Amino acid sequence: MVTPMPKRLIALMIVLLMSLTSIASAWSTKEHILLTRLAVMRLLAEEQTPPAMKDWLRRITPGPLDEPSLHQWYMDSRQGVFPRGEDGAPFWAVVPDLKALTSWPQETVAPWPVGERLLHFIDLEYFDPAQQTPSSKPQYKLGGAAKPELSQIPRDPADGRYKQAGMLPFRIEQVYGKLVRSIRAGRLTDAPGQFPRDEHAAHWAGFLSHYIADNTQPQHSSVDYKSRVFFPPGAHVPNVHAQMEYILVDDERADFPELREQFWQLLQQKLTSVNDEATMDDLWVGSVQTSLRAYDALELVGAAAAAAWKRAEGSDNPSTPWVIDTTAFYNYRMTQNGVSVSLAEKKAELQALAVIRIAEHLRQAWDEAMKAGPIEPSTIPDASDQNTDQEKAG
Ligand SMILES: [Zn+2]
Repeated sequence: MVTPMPKRLIALMIVLLMSLTSIASAWSTKEHILLTRLAVMRLLAEEQTPPAMKDWLRRITPGPLDEPSLHQWYMDSRQGVFPRGEDGAPFWAVVPDLKALTSWPQETVAPWPVGERLLHFIDLEYFDPAQQTPSSKPQYKLGGAAKPELSQIPRDPADGRYKQAGMLPFRIEQVYGKLVRSIRAGRLTDAPGQFPRDEHAAHWAGFLSHYIADNTQPQHSSVDYKSRVFFPPGAHVPNVHAQMEYILVDDERADFPELREQFWQLLQQKLTSVNDEATMDDLWVGSVQTSLRAYDALELVGAAAAAAWKRAEGSDNPSTPWVIDTTAFYNYRMTQNGVSVSLAEKKAELQALAVIRIAEHLRQAWDEAMKAGPIEPSTIPDASDQNTDQEKAG
């Protein structure tokens, strides 16, 4: 006789399956791993990085840390949703998405009234002063017309709009604090006999890397996270979010070797040329500024998707569904501020920005922790957060 499955397990499986079909948790698993590794490589290459920090970074980043091996991994590997084969910071850099997939709908992350999923984005239209009717959901407007000013975004987590808009800038600030405290406590990495077992700097460095990377994904700054407004009303809108993320680098059915190689070269170039214009003196403000910058790319993403949307190759049958031609999508060009830019170039710019900002945050956390000198592990103020999470989830 088959034992019936507990109700909670069935419910969890349903939640998981529903989420797997509509993942919208930001850059793909493979990209979060990539951006974390590139940030670590950047810090290792910098002369000014303190030797003790370099030692820590090597310990928390097993696996490829040189350009040729990482390039090969980027070109050839298939990662999927789960971070197979990864450990240390690259593994933890994916866990926030896995938590978003597996949390109960009513589960919140202390101290906020929202769940994990809401910590990965901030939909800026909620703060557009022209769209403040409480009964209707704000919209993306063509030309970026619904983009608010920095000064219109309140630094008050109790503002009711954050329950829908998402709380990414608050989460970045919080996780940064957790990383600083873990380093100060000397809890640098996972170690046998160290409890709580998962409360350490490799964990929080990975988490920080995740949220900072999400901060640069344009669709994570807008209610229109699938670029729907660029398609005719009533059209079966393709998954533009997936095109922007995993399809180029980690698709189950296609590798796009030429496009992938082209993107790798663009990313390497952008890593040496992109300027991070957002502040590092105030991480919340810096995060909002980064979302505002990413927001400006939405027009290009949407126009590229609409232009690359066509009936599947070789089919004249009117009932054949329309799909996005990924190569046409990434090669689409638009003139912005007098400069012609392709979507591939824009994505490379934003991912390079993510790498630069991850490295900046890690370095700043290390320096801040070292300024104060070591403290006793028992005084970590928020180590119990994880226990609370576990109890709720388990
Ligand atoms: Zn995410």
